[in-house]
Amino acid sequence: MKRRFERKTAIPYVSVVIPAYNEELVIEETCTRLIRVMDKLHLPYELLFVNDGSRDGTYRVLERLAEEISCVKVLDFSRNFGHQIAVTAGIDHAVGDVVILIDADLQDPPELIADFLEKWREGYDVVYAVRMRREGETWFKRSTAKFFYRMLRKMTEIEIPVDTGDFRLMDRSVVESLRTIKEKHRFIRGLVSWVGFRQTGVPYERAERFAGESKYPLRKMLKFSLDGITSFSFRPLQWASKLGMASSGIGFLFILVLLYLKIFTTLTIQGWTSLMVVVLFLGGIQLFMLGVLGEYIGRIYDEVRNRPLYLIRERKNFESHK
Ligand code: UDP
Ligand code: MG
Repeated sequence: MKRRFERKTAIPYVSVVIPAYNEELVIEETCTRLIRVMDKLHLPYELLFVNDGSRDGTYRVLERLAEEISCVKVLDFSRNFGHQIAVTAGIDHAVGDVVILIDADLQDPPELIADFLEKWREGYDVVYAVRMRREGETWFKRSTAKFFYRMLRKMTEIEIPVDTGDFRLMDRSVVESLRTIKEKHRFIRGLVSWVGFRQTGVPYERAERFAGESKYPLRKMLKFSLDGITSFSFRPLQWASKLGMASSGIGFLFILVLLYLKIFTTLTIQGWTSLMVVVLFLGGIQLFMLGVLGEYIGRIYDEVRNRPLYLIRERKNFESHK
């Protein structure tokens, strides 16, 4: 894609995408802080909130903000579609020369946006924020996240930076590339790595949530990590053949032992324990691998059904572009 302007002196239009699910306690503060940061930058901008089917008063607050402030735009989903889908909708509707993704809970400091833009002016197309420390999150969350990012790195061929969330800046060229990716189970930080371009990281300390509690219970965390792995790796499927080879190797040795016992000793009637161990162990491996297959097949099924990614109930302040 051809550059439209010299970046060093450019005045880019900035779109900030903020997914929100049950964030009535923080959303107004988030908006205020974003406006404060953006006004200081003296750039034209829009704040694009995506209400991901919140059950609390989030939408009422957003509706009011959109009425008072013209740069606040709101997409309201028909139900909860999930964080990654909400971000996708934001990316689809953002009109900026650069698009910034940020969480609604102020764990990602909006002040970092100035650093993002500086890197963008230097010529980078993606600037992502790398978490050096995480404040106010449980030991469980920190250690599972740490483990997940490192495991994912081992399992995939593309380079997905560790300890990096969706808090990032993307140039229009990257956004246009992302929009051509139609897959349903989206792992956005992986997809952004996958598209390539010039990317760099900025370190930061992840703050505590401003208010409310995490909207990522264990169930959503598990689905999210499985989406990440299945989207970018066939490794789990290959485990089946490796486990199969290992267990036939062990089986072969066991046969030799059994034959020896049968021919040279009288101990052959024993062995209920070993039989049960083998049956249970192999049964476990087989069911586990069936589960792995199921995870992939379920996702293939979702792809071929080809339902829309999300449904929008209402939009606010989009008139000028529609
Ligand atoms: N979120 C969303 N839909 C969901 C869950 C979360 O849009 O189904 C949003 C949430 O409002 C927040 C962001 O995704 O802006 C990250 O969620 P959260 O802060 O709860 O995750 P954590 O920081 O605990 O990993
Ligand atoms: Mg959070």
